[in-house]
Amino acid sequence: MARTFEVTILGTGSAKPTKQRLPSAQIVRMGPKQFLVDCGEGTQLQMMRKGIKFNNIQAIFISHLHGDHILGLPGYISTLSLHNRTKKLHIYGPPGVEDLVQLVLKIGRTHLSFEIEYHIVPKAPFSQIVDEFGYSVYAVALKHRIECYGYIFEEAGPERSILKEACESNNVPLHFYEKLRMGEDFEYSPGQIIKNKDLTIPASPHRKYSYMSDTIYDPSIVPYIRQSDLLYHESTFLHALEARAKETFHSTAKQAGIIAREADANELLLGHFSSRYSDVSAFEEEAKTEFPNTSIAQEGQTYTIK
Ligand SMILES: [Zn+2]
Ligand SMILES: [Zn+2]
Repeated sequence: MARTFEVTILGTGSAKPTKQRLPSAQIVRMGPKQFLVDCGEGTQLQMMRKGIKFNNIQAIFISHLHGDHILGLPGYISTLSLHNRTKKLHIYGPPGVEDLVQLVLKIGRTHLSFEIEYHIVPKAPFSQIVDEFGYSVYAVALKHRIECYGYIFEEAGPERSILKEACESNNVPLHFYEKLRMGEDFEYSPGQIIKNKDLTIPASPHRKYSYMSDTIYDPSIVPYIRQSDLLYHESTFLHALEARAKETFHSTAKQAGIIAREADANELLLGHFSSRYSDVSAFEEEAKTEFPNTSIAQEGQTYTIK
């Protein structure tokens, strides 16, 4: 069975909250790991509604320091301390993210029960920021009014998958499995080998989830998000307001569809809708003209990356 790899959408609004939508936040789960991606106002409320335990987040990834992506962060961190968290919390984001959190803690004279380690994303078009056993996270520089990063969550892992029965019947010792995964043949006595291909099969392709918010229409990100199994791309406006999108460094639904098509993504989720739209069904129709496998991200819904 495939490892858990899913995203729960907590907020799909942009600058102003509406009765229907909250600002950006989502939870990404990869195996036993759980991450918070952006933390707009209302994140704690949405987590409670979805039964997501506050303390089970290992790391937070902040795209940029506009309020609709970070104003929930000081509150969430304070709550973790009230829950007596002791595990270190990792926060990834652009420069200033530490100042923001520390200022709120300082003026409230709040002492946290746990340590925060800040990881400032390198100012580069593309960089790997996490390289852990089983997964990697990459940052992509987006073109927005202030420094902003999209994040790519990608499974990593062995080059080959073990054929357990073949290994057992050939008495391959367990300690050799890692070498098999890396493609080595098994030498059971000097000069006597069993070919790797008789003991393993190619590993399944690594799944990839890309979160791209906020950005002006920017085809230069396409090579980095190529073949995402799921792509979340901001679509703040409909294309009738293309000029407004450009002026505010945001994208339209049509442009999100073009990016998904150019990147050969499997599925596109639209989000970050301007508060001027109460009904966002037209976003889906518009993006579908460029990329048919498009849906509107629904708050509270969990999407499996497959
Ligand atoms: Zn935003
Ligand atoms: Zn923004």
